[in-house]
Amino acid sequence: MVIIRANASCAALGIGLSSVPYPYGCSAHCQSDSTATVIPSNTILPTPQPTTAAMASSATTHGLPPSVLNADPGTFTKGGTPLSAADYSASASVPSGAQKFPRLSLPVPMMRLEYDAVVIGSGYGGGVAASRAARAGKSVCVLELGRERWPGEYPVSAVDAFGELHVSGNAAANNAPIKDLNAGDPTALYHLVLGEGQNAFVANGLGGTSLLNANIFLETDERTMALEECWPQELRRKAALEKYYDRARSMLQPTPYPEDQPELMKLELLKKQAVKMGLADKFYRPPQTTFFRDGLNSTGVEMKASTLSGQDCTGVNDGSKSSVLMNYLPDAWNWGAEIFCECEVRHIKKDPSGKGYIVFFAWYGNKRNRAEFEDLFHNELMWVRAKELCFLAAGTLGTTEILLRSKRLGLHMSARVGQGMSGNGDILAFGYNTDDVANAVGRQTPPKDDMARPVGPTITGVIDMRDTKDVLDGFVLEEGAVPQVLGRFLQTMLEITPGKVYPTEKGGKYDRLRKFFARTETRIMGPYYPGCSVNRTQIYLIMSHDDNQSTLTLEGDKAYLKFNGVGRSSHVKQLNEFLAKATHAVGGVLVNSPFFAFLGQEEITVHPIGGANISSTGLGEDGVTNHMGEVFTGAGPEVHDGLVCVDGSIIPCALGVNPFATITALAERSLDCLAAKYGMAIDLETKNGKLDLVNGKPRVRWPLTEEMKEAQESILAAAGESGVRFAEVMDGHLYVGDEIDDFEVAENAAKGNGSTARFYLSVDTYSTKNLVTRTDHASMATGTFTCSALSKEPFMILRGEVQFFSPDTKTPDTKNLTYKFDMTGTDGRVLHFDGYKVVNSGIAFSPSRTWRATTTLYVTITNPDGSQVARGILHISKRNFLAEMKGFGPLGDVGLWKNLAGVKAFLSFFSLQTAAFYFSPFRRLQYPAAAGTATISSIPKVQPTKVVTVTAVDGVQSTVHCWRPLQSNPKLPPILFVPGAAVDHQIFALPTIETNAVEYFLGKGYTLYAVTHRVGKTEVAKRGYTIYDARLDIKAAMEYVRADSQQSKLYCIAHCAGSVALSMGLLDGAIPAGWLRGVTASQVFFNPKFATINSLKASSPVPMPVVYKKLSGGDWFDCTSPADSALVQRVTDQLLRFYPVGGTAEHPEGCDSTTCHRSELVFGRLWTHDKLNKETHDSLANFLGGISMNCLEKLMHAGNTGNVYDNEGVSLMNESNLARLKGVPIMFIHGMNNAVFDPESTERSYDVLRDAFDDDLENYQRLTIPEYGHLDCWMGKNAYKDVYPFVLNHIGDVTKTADRENPLSASTAHGRN
Ligand SMILES: Cc1cc2nc3c(=O)[nH]c(=O)nc-3n(C[C@H](O)[C@H](O)[C@H](O)COP(=O)(O)OP(=O)(O)OC[C@H]3O[C@@H](n4cnc5c(N)ncnc54)[C@H](O)[C@@H]3O)c2cc1C
Repeated sequence: MVIIRANASCAALGIGLSSVPYPYGCSAHCQSDSTATVIPSNTILPTPQPTTAAMASSATTHGLPPSVLNADPGTFTKGGTPLSAADYSASASVPSGAQKFPRLSLPVPMMRLEYDAVVIGSGYGGGVAASRAARAGKSVCVLELGRERWPGEYPVSAVDAFGELHVSGNAAANNAPIKDLNAGDPTALYHLVLGEGQNAFVANGLGGTSLLNANIFLETDERTMALEECWPQELRRKAALEKYYDRARSMLQPTPYPEDQPELMKLELLKKQAVKMGLADKFYRPPQTTFFRDGLNSTGVEMKASTLSGQDCTGVNDGSKSSVLMNYLPDAWNWGAEIFCECEVRHIKKDPSGKGYIVFFAWYGNKRNRAEFEDLFHNELMWVRAKELCFLAAGTLGTTEILLRSKRLGLHMSARVGQGMSGNGDILAFGYNTDDVANAVGRQTPPKDDMARPVGPTITGVIDMRDTKDVLDGFVLEEGAVPQVLGRFLQTMLEITPGKVYPTEKGGKYDRLRKFFARTETRIMGPYYPGCSVNRTQIYLIMSHDDNQSTLTLEGDKAYLKFNGVGRSSHVKQLNEFLAKATHAVGGVLVNSPFFAFLGQEEITVHPIGGANISSTGLGEDGVTNHMGEVFTGAGPEVHDGLVCVDGSIIPCALGVNPFATITALAERSLDCLAAKYGMAIDLETKNGKLDLVNGKPRVRWPLTEEMKEAQESILAAAGESGVRFAEVMDGHLYVGDEIDDFEVAENAAKGNGSTARFYLSVDTYSTKNLVTRTDHASMATGTFTCSALSKEPFMILRGEVQFFSPDTKTPDTKNLTYKFDMTGTDGRVLHFDGYKVVNSGIAFSPSRTWRATTTLYVTITNPDGSQVARGILHISKRNFLAEMKGFGPLGDVGLWKNLAGVKAFLSFFSLQTAAFYFSPFRRLQYPAAAGTATISSIPKVQPTKVVTVTAVDGVQSTVHCWRPLQSNPKLPPILFVPGAAVDHQIFALPTIETNAVEYFLGKGYTLYAVTHRVGKTEVAKRGYTIYDARLDIKAAMEYVRADSQQSKLYCIAHCAGSVALSMGLLDGAIPAGWLRGVTASQVFFNPKFATINSLKASSPVPMPVVYKKLSGGDWFDCTSPADSALVQRVTDQLLRFYPVGGTAEHPEGCDSTTCHRSELVFGRLWTHDKLNKETHDSLANFLGGISMNCLEKLMHAGNTGNVYDNEGVSLMNESNLARLKGVPIMFIHGMNNAVFDPESTERSYDVLRDAFDDDLENYQRLTIPEYGHLDCWMGKNAYKDVYPFVLNHIGDVTKTADRENPLSASTAHGRN
C-alpha cells in the first residue's frame, strides 16, 4: 500500500486544517507534485482502527472512529424517499423504464450544519476534490445545482429533451440585445448560456458536464503548457502534470475506439478526409472514456459496453460512459462524502470565527424557486459551514459567478475575477451532404436490421494539427454525432443556415442529381435513411486557441457573459478554410453552426474556461488563483486558506484541445498540493472492491446525530409510500425580548420597532398514510428563518417538525398546526422556534375566520434553556398561499397513480379536518360518558382531609370538604369556598387542571373548607330550593369552620349564586358580618345584572322557565343528558347545535359538547373556551348538575332587575340591611368576557358599598380579569397564574390590616406571593 504524504511530521489526521511549515516557502508547493512523498503506509500511518466487514482488510482508516465506519448510512431515492429492497431487486429484472436507479445523493433535510470540506459542483473538479478529501479522512459535503440522473434516465425524445433545457443570459445579436433571459428549470440537464460574442453549452447534474460530453481524453501539449504569459512556472515545467494525467487516466480509464469494434462511417470518413488533405499522419483514434466491454471500472462500479448509439451529448443511456457519476463521485460516496443535489451555491463568506467558510446556497427542493418567491429564493439562503476546505468546482461559469458575488459581498480577492476567459477556440460546423455516408445521427435503439451500421460514440477520430510553427495556430479537428433529438431538425436547420461554403469545383449533373435525391430522401424518409443527405453529413468540432479576452460580469445580480470575437479573428477564418477544404475533399457543403450564421458570427463553446485564472506570476494582480487553485486575497501572493478552485475556471488560456483531461489533472494536483500543505494523507491505494450502489453501504459513514437518526427513521419508515411536498413562506413581526407574553401585544410592539421576521420552509411529508393515520407522525421542515433583530443572516432550519391538526391538549375542541424546530445562526447561535396555528369551532361557517385560523402562526422563540427570546405572529399572504398551492406536489418515486393517491389523501385530510370545524354545528355531539366510566384526570390531586355534613336551621344538610395544609399556620384565617348554582366544591378542587384553587391556597398554608349548598350539584336542589335558601347552608358551614378552626373569623371566597346567597345572608342578618375577615365576591354580589344574551332571554315574552320546562319535561333542567336519554332530550340536544355559541367576532367560540350547550342555554356561556383545557371540557358532566325551575325563575327575576329578593319577592336591599355589611372588606373579581353576569353587576355593588361606607373606602376593591369569562376564573387551566394570586393578595391585605388593628393576632406569615 502507498499513501501520498508530503511530510511525515504533519499534523495528525482528522485535525483542523493547519498549514504545515514547508522548507521552501509557499511557492515551493509548486514542487510538491514532484516532492510529495509516496511511501509505504506501514511506516507512517496511525494504527488502523477496526473496520466494517465490508472494508478490505488492508484498508486504512485515517483514524476514523468505528462509529464513523459502522454508522448506518440509509439509502434514499429520487426526491429523498427511500427505495425498498424490493425496488432494488426489481431494478435488476425489470425492463428499462420501470427501472429504479441508485442515488448517491441524500435528501437535503439530511444535511449537517458543518463539514471539514464543502465541494461546490460535481463535475471533474468537484469529483476529484470530493473523492480525495474524503479519502483523506475529511467529512465532505458536495453541493450540486443539478439533479441526480443515472444512465436510463437521460432524455431521448424531443419533448423530454426540451423539458431539460435551461436557457439564460443576454444575447446581443445584431445590436438587439435580449436581456435577462431565463427560460426553463435552472436544475435542468442542458444549460444554454447566451452571451455577447459567444455562447456556451454546459450541463447541470450530478457529474457535471461529464454527463454530456463526448468523452475525449487528450492531454494539453507541452508547448501550450509552456506559454509564459499563461502558466506559472510550477506548471510550465516539463511533464508538470504527467503524474496527474496518469492519476486521472487510472480513474477515468480512457481508451481509443477499439479496432475490434464495428467499423464506424464517420470515423472512416474523417480518416478519408485526412488522407485526401495529405494529413494521414495527423489522424488517429483519441483515447475516450467510454467502456467497450462489460465490467467493473476503476472505482468498482458496474459498467456496460457501449451500444455505439452516438447519444453521449444528451446523456448516453447504455451505462458505458465513464462520467464522473461513475467513478470519482461513487468513490467519494464510498469514503463518506455526503452529496446533495438541487443546491445552487450563491456566495461564500469567511466564517466569523476566522477559520473556514460559510457557503450560502439556494435549494430548489419543493419548488422553492416559484416566481412568487423570486425575491426570497436568491436572498434568503440556506448555508453550510466548511470548517477547513471549500472547493469551488461549479464549472467555469458557475465558479466565476460565485466568486464575483462573494467579492461583491465582501470577500477580498483579485480584481481579475471574471477576466481573461476563453471559449477554448471551439468551432462547431457541418460537412453537409458529402459523397460519403457518415451515419452521424445518434440513435437510442437502432432497428435490428440496422445494427450493422452503428453510429459509434460521439467522437472517435481526430486530425491533430497542434504541431504548427506557432503554437497558437495549433488546433484539433474531431468528427462528431448529433443526438437523436436533433436528427429530425438537422436538415431544415442546415438548409436555412446562411453563409454556406460550396465546393469551388461544381460537380457534374449526376452529382447534382444524387445530392438532390439525397435531400429529398431525408425529407421523405427521415434522417436515418441510408444515403440521405443527413446520413451523409459529417459533424465537426474544432478546438483551437482564441484570444482569452472574454469576461463574465455581474449586472444586478445576474452573470453576464461576453466573449470578444472568436468568430471575427483571422485565425477563425483560417480554421473555416481548413473545414471547407476537408468538406470539399469529400464533396460536401460547409455549413456553419447556426449561432455563427444567424447571431452575427457568434460561436458556441462547449468548453468555456477561465474566470478564476491561475496567475502566471504567482500574484493576484495577474490572476485569481495560484498554481494550485487557492484564491488570492488581493493583488499579492496571499491566499484565502482552504478556499480552492479546482475546475475549468482556473485554466488561464485556450488549450487547443478538449479540456477535461487537463481539468482533472490540475484538480488532482491541487489536492496533492493541499495534502502537502496541510499534512493530509490521501489514501489512493485502497481499492473499493465492487461497489453495490443499489443495495450496498459506503465503507465510511459519519455518524448521525440523534435528530438525524430520527429523521432518517421517519424517512425510511415511509419506504414505498407516497408523500407530498410544498414550500411555505410566512412573515410578520416578532418582538425581541422576554417582557411581553401576549402574542398580539408582542406583534404590535414589534411593528412599532420594525422587527420583521419570516420563515421560508420546504415541508416534506414522506408518507401521507402515516400523516393521516398517526398523530405522532410529523412532516419535516427545511429552510431558513430571518429576523434581522436576531441575526444579520438567515438561521438554518434542518429536520424541523410540522404537525398538521394535532389535538390541542390544553384547549378544548381545538386542533393545532404546529411548527417546532431548532435553528442555527451563522455565528453558531441555536434558538428554538415554537409556532402554532389554532383551528377550532370558532371558524364555523366563516371563510374569513377559516383563512385567519389556518394562516396565523403564534410564535415564541426561546434559548436552549427555555428563556424567551422573541414572540409575535407570522401570517401567510394570499400571494404566498397561492404559490404554496401551486408548488404543492407529490414526493417520492412510487409511480404516478400512487403519487396522485398520496396527494389526494393529503388534500382530503386537510379539507376534512378543516371542514370538521367549519361545519362544526353538524358534527357528532359529544355526550357525557356513562356514569362511572369517565376518566377525569391522570394528574394526582390533593384529597380532602375530611368530608363532613352540616345541617342548616331548616334541617337541610350540606357537605363540607376540608383540607389542612401539611404545616398549618394558626395566624392565617381559614378560607371557606362557596360555589355557585348547579356546581359543587369541585370547581375549586378541579381534578383536571395542573393547579386548582384548593392546591394553590393549601400550598400557601391556608386551611380550606368548601361547602356544597342546596342549589349546587346536589340531589336536594331538585326540591326547588332558592338561592335565598342557600344562605342558610353557608351560615351552617361557617359555624362549622369557626368551630373546627377555632378561629372566630374566616375568609370567604364565594362564586356566582354562592356569592349572591352570601350577600343575601349578610343583608338579612342570617350571616353575621362579624364572622368574616374578608370576602372575594366572584362575578356578582347583590346586584345581579345579566349579560346581553341572558337579558334578552330574561325579558322574552315567553318566560324562559316555561321553555325549559317544556324542554326538560318537568321542574328540573339537567345540564347533562346522556346519549340514550329520552327522545325529547335528544331532540333538545340536536336543536341546541344551532344555539349561538357566543364569543366575539375576533374570538368566536363553539363546541360539540351537549353539556356545554345545555348549561349555556340556562345560564349563558359559562367560560371562554380557550381558558379551559381539553380534559376539563371533555368531563364537564362530572362538574355540572342542573337547576330547578323555581330557583331559575327567581334568579332570572333578580338578574333582570339587578336586585336581590327574599322568597316572597321582597327586596333585601335597604339601608338598614346594608348597614350590616359595615367593616367587611370585599374584593370583587369579574371576568371581562363574562357572558352570564355583566361586569356591571360587581361594579354596581362596589359603588353601592363605597357610597354607603365612604369612610371605609379601602375596604373595597374591584378587579376585572381580561379574556376570562365566568367559571373559568376558577376552572381555567391558567387561573392559578391569572386569577388566584389576586385573591391571595387580598387575603394577605385584609389579614395584615386586621393584625395592625389587633396586634395581639399579628402574624408574620401571610402566605403572600
Ligand atoms: C457536448 C459537450 C461535449 C464535450 N466533449 C468533451 C470532450 O470530448 N472532451 C473534453 O475534454 N471535454 C469535453 N467537453 C467539455 C467538458 O465536459 C468540460 O470542460 C468539463 O466537464 C468541465 O468540468 P468542470 O469540472 O470544470 O465543470 P462541470 O463539469 O461543468 O461541472 C460543474 C458542475 O457544477 C454545477 N454548478 C454550477 N453552478 C453551480 C452552483 N452555483 N452551485 C452548485 N453547483 C453548481 C453544475 O451543475 C455542474 O454539475 C464537452 C462538453 C460538452 C457540453
